[in-house]
Amino acid sequence: MTERVKVLFDETRLQERVAQMGAQITSACRGQDLVLVVVLKGSFVFAADLARRIDLPLTVDFLGLRSYGDGTETSGVVQITSDLSRSIEGRDVIVVEDIVDTGLTMAYLLDNLRTRRPRSLRVAALLHKPARTRIVVPIDWLGFTVDDVFVVGYGLDHAERYRNLPYIGVLEPGPSATTGTSGAVGS
Ligand code: 5GP
Repeated sequence: MTERVKVLFDETRLQERVAQMGAQITSACRGQDLVLVVVLKGSFVFAADLARRIDLPLTVDFLGLRSYGDGTETSGVVQITSDLSRSIEGRDVIVVEDIVDTGLTMAYLLDNLRTRRPRSLRVAALLHKPARTRIVVPIDWLGFTVDDVFVVGYGLDHAERYRNLPYIGVLEPGPSATTGTSGAVGS
């Protein structure tokens, strides 16, 4: 392996921040009919930790998305590869997303979910790259902002690798890290 990963947020920092987010959601959502909509694949680790820090009754559902792009950049063309298993009509939805980069994926997703008539629709995102915003999307609970760097770990991949790192790091390009092929990115 020639790529190197420089640690950006270590495991302790991630766990502390996710616990804070869970506590905030717990106090904001008491008495609501909560469903966490987890955006696969990248959010699965964050969602597993966040769900256990929300001290309220809730259900969890999953939505598979594929964003097409050139390896590390989305084009905004998004396909639902696996849909929710149940209706969200009348329910209080929290979309759990790993990273909001340009905002194109989240904008598409929120438009799509809104047509299903949830009672409320909010977003919990672990990471946000403000410098790359193309569409402003509301983020109700945010973990960290990051600079314009490509991050991996804690569920986030590059070419399907690195999802199992317990920390988030920056992929430092080596010979094989820069050979991204066309196809699906992130998710
Ligand atoms: P968007 O640009 O539409 O906001 O982000 C599209 C998707 O690209 C994100 O949901 C995420 O899966 C992926 N993505 C964006 N930035 C990064 C990044 O720095 N690292 C990784 N691994 N995926 C990213």
